[in-house]
Amino acid sequence: MFKPTLGIIGGGQLGSMLAIAANKLEIKTVIFCDDIDAPAQKFSNDFVHGQYNDQNKIKEFISKVDVITYEFENIPYETLNEINRIKPVLPKPSVNRIIQHRLAEKDFINNLNIRTTRYASIEKKSEMDSVEDLLPGLLKTVTMGYDGKGQHPVHTLESLDSIDIDYSKGYILEKLVKLKKEISIIITRFSNQKYEIYEPIENVHEDQILRNSKIPAEISDKILNQSKLWATQIAEELKYVGTLCVEFFIDRNDNLYVNEIAPRVHNSGHLTINAYNVSQFENHVRAVCKLEQIPLQKKSNAEMLNIIGDQIIPYRNKKFAENEFFFDYLKKDIKDKRKMGHLTTLIS
Ligand code: ADP
Ligand code: MG
Repeated sequence: MFKPTLGIIGGGQLGSMLAIAANKLEIKTVIFCDDIDAPAQKFSNDFVHGQYNDQNKIKEFISKVDVITYEFENIPYETLNEINRIKPVLPKPSVNRIIQHRLAEKDFINNLNIRTTRYASIEKKSEMDSVEDLLPGLLKTVTMGYDGKGQHPVHTLESLDSIDIDYSKGYILEKLVKLKKEISIIITRFSNQKYEIYEPIENVHEDQILRNSKIPAEISDKILNQSKLWATQIAEELKYVGTLCVEFFIDRNDNLYVNEIAPRVHNSGHLTINAYNVSQFENHVRAVCKLEQIPLQKKSNAEMLNIIGDQIIPYRNKKFAENEFFFDYLKKDIKDKRKMGHLTTLIS
């Protein structure tokens, strides 16, 4: 079987785990990243350092690979599209263009008759006056947000006077859902109606950053089936190739909503490395490199804990039990709120 060389745009922890999975499948990887210290270069066969709009670097990267994927969604559409004219980019750039824009993403989901929270586009402050019924809400930048960055809670219209917001960036106002729980579905689509789907994962966020994840999620069968169905519909509609994550809210009346889609492997799916026969990373590599699809088998229940900021220090020389798996992302600097590693514990 032909084994393509896989180019990965982005060199953080997701790029590292993709490169490790590719290596296991004897697929060579080349990382392209704007950070000279990108941790993923330690696990890849080659590394191109450059800005994501540097034409020469983009050309150099393309010349070294057969197929390209990415570990984060905030890559300019033009860049992905340009690369795609020469070598295939998967998931395809048009998918990323929808998902990287919170309004386009929510419109897309609603057009499938899948529930999201209510929302409105906000491009200037005066537009807030007509959407008071969406309060309390969250005002989010339409692009570039992650780990809660670019989000402002808005309780009353008066409270807006005390926060400094540059409305010209483009915002979405989302009504706050009274959360009972959050779950996510990781699905890898290979081609039409061919996919592998993991069971729902239950997630706890603190300060809008994922803190821990576990399987099984404690949810009703109805929610389990509905979340899997919606994730499958989304992946099919996008004609997606690779691993995709759908994040969901469950409100206090047990209504299910799609929160957002990530066109990539996802933090909540890290436990699949140890809890399943094939991880979300390996499945992504298999799908984008057109390798064999292997039926998923769950090996164990599991919990994953994100290690954030200086919480990493004691873990670095800790002894672990046989059912514990510690991953250090090997980031050069410890920063407040930065994801530094994770610990997965298998639970029988
Ligand atoms: P990010 O792109 O930063 O992951 P999200 O939209 O997923 O942004 O928000 C991060 C977290 O903030 C969510 O997982 C949830 O805990 C909380 N949150 C975001 N939007 C809402 C909302 N409309 N209602 C309730 N909680 C929300
Ligand atoms: Mg999110």
